Amino acid sequence: LEGEGEPDGQPPDVTYEDVGGLDDELERVREMIELPMRHPELFRALGIEPPKGVLLHGPPGTGKTLIARAVANEIDAHFQTISGPEIMSKYYGESEEQLRDVFEDAAEHEPAIVFIDELDSIAPKREDVQGDVERRVVAQLLSLMDGLEQRGEITVIGTTNRVDAIDPALRRPGRFDREIEIGVPDAAGREEILQIHTRGMPLAEDIDLERYAENTHGFVGADLENLAKEAAMTAMRRVRPELDLEEDEIDAEALEAIEITEGDFKS
Ligand code: ATP
Repeated sequence: LEGEGEPDGQPPDVTYEDVGGLDDELERVREMIELPMRHPELFRALGIEPPKGVLLHGPPGTGKTLIARAVANEIDAHFQTISGPEIMSKYYGESEEQLRDVFEDAAEHEPAIVFIDELDSIAPKREDVQGDVERRVVAQLLSLMDGLEQRGEITVIGTTNRVDAIDPALRRPGRFDREIEIGVPDAAGREEILQIHTRGMPLAEDIDLERYAENTHGFVGADLENLAKEAAMTAMRRVRPELDLEEDEIDAEALEAIEITEGDFKS
């Protein structure tokens, strides 16, 4: 799904159905982000402030970006992405300007989600990095978040691989004060993820995804997606010599007959 990208701002076309093995985490996401954005009045009635900032933390490739995109889609929210490392590579003053632009754009398109990938590269702990750029960018981000009215119409979702690497000033109340851990999937989760990523693939009937799930300890969603794609590529290389590629269009029956077999997965 990476790179298929919707035009910036548009709600992504990813749904909760595309997220595998994270039922409990999704439940928390819905409660922490979706519900307050849909029904801020419920939270007000309970005397709770809807969150302005939520941190998704966990190892790379576990689905943090995917979840953020899914929640934005489910509530039909404007979706603005900021990449931490990218924003830090800007010229003097441009990083802050880009942050201001993104928040301004979000304010014009409520409900909106501002997604900051790799937040720790913008806002590392101050003792780790004393650089002037970081200080200015963190200050800008804090002031933008402090300026958000706590109505729940704009939520900032940040991701990080290490939650303790983030400037504590960003984690105070009214900023990124909620967090959800997105961990490495277990075997059942891996099976669900494999099912999702082979959904459109012509798998041979005897393929046992449960077994692959058991044999892929330590694989995260991105690895499993790769595994499925590689199997499809292996199948393509295997059947290729049998196809007439000189034709404008490959014969429909021949296409219909293509199967991804067990051997393709092992490579
Ligand atoms: P990073 O910390 O590197 O940004 P991330 O946790 O944001 O990683 P994603 O970008 O969401 O990871 O995952 C990369 C791709 O891997 C996704 O686009 C998706 O195709 C697949 N993927 C990852 N986790 C899952 C999952 N739980 N269910 C289904 N697919 C997943």
